[in-house]
Amino acid sequence: MSDEGAAAVAAVGAVAERIEAKRSHLTDLDSAIGDADHGGNMARGWAAAAEAVDDLEDPEPAAVVKTAGKTLLSEVGGASGPLFGGSLVFASTELEEGITAETAVAFAETYLEKVQDRGDARVGDKTMIDALVPAVHTFKKSVEVDDMTPVEALAKAVAAAERGVDFTVPIRASKGRASYLGWRSVGHQDPGATSTLYIMEELLDVATDNVDAPDELPDHAESPTIPDGEVTED
Ligand code: ADP
Ligand code: MG
Repeated sequence: MSDEGAAAVAAVGAVAERIEAKRSHLTDLDSAIGDADHGGNMARGWAAAAEAVDDLEDPEPAAVVKTAGKTLLSEVGGASGPLFGGSLVFASTELEEGITAETAVAFAETYLEKVQDRGDARVGDKTMIDALVPAVHTFKKSVEVDDMTPVEALAKAVAAAERGVDFTVPIRASKGRASYLGWRSVGHQDPGATSTLYIMEELLDVATDNVDAPDELPDHAESPTIPDGEVTED
């Protein structure tokens, strides 16, 4: 198994664990403005996806993502199955040459494009798009304009997604089930934007773990010396 393939399998497993840990929180969020199934939908789908990618004989990143997406598609109903699953299947082809800064940006952009093709939501509709759009744009700019490494760029993207999740709270839903509530959806955080953030946080964690660590810390970095005179005693 290639290192990248192993990292992709680990990422799906990490997402499954995180979503399971947040299952009841996601359910609570969806109870407030939907039908209380987002936690269960996502937990069931990602657990099945983790099993499916574990069974792959030669897991390369594109195959791992495609398998996870197909499993989400078949296991998760509602709005989110096709949005998360179908978009992952479609975007997985961008990783056929492996994971580089360039293919990661292409993957993120294609994923977003597909979610928008399928769901027709825009920023401000109070959906997962409110987390995804700032995240994907920040990721692309951080790589292409600011010359950051993919992991640094992903950290920026996660921060942008977090702000996107906060942005869903005060706005009114105009797509998905929550839109049936009209103004009563105001004041509640969107479940799909929240699960999108959890997924991205896990990707960042796994990506950080899989980047080669610097060989060794220089000696002086391990035991900082305190200059004389700066130690105070009460
Ligand atoms: P359902 O709404 O069918 O019960 P879930 O509860 O699993 O499905 O997912 C709800 C989430 O799906 C919402 O919080 C929202 O983020 C997302 N969503 C719903 N409709 C759309 C859409 N048209 N475009 C993008 N995301 C959407
Ligand atoms: Mg729901």
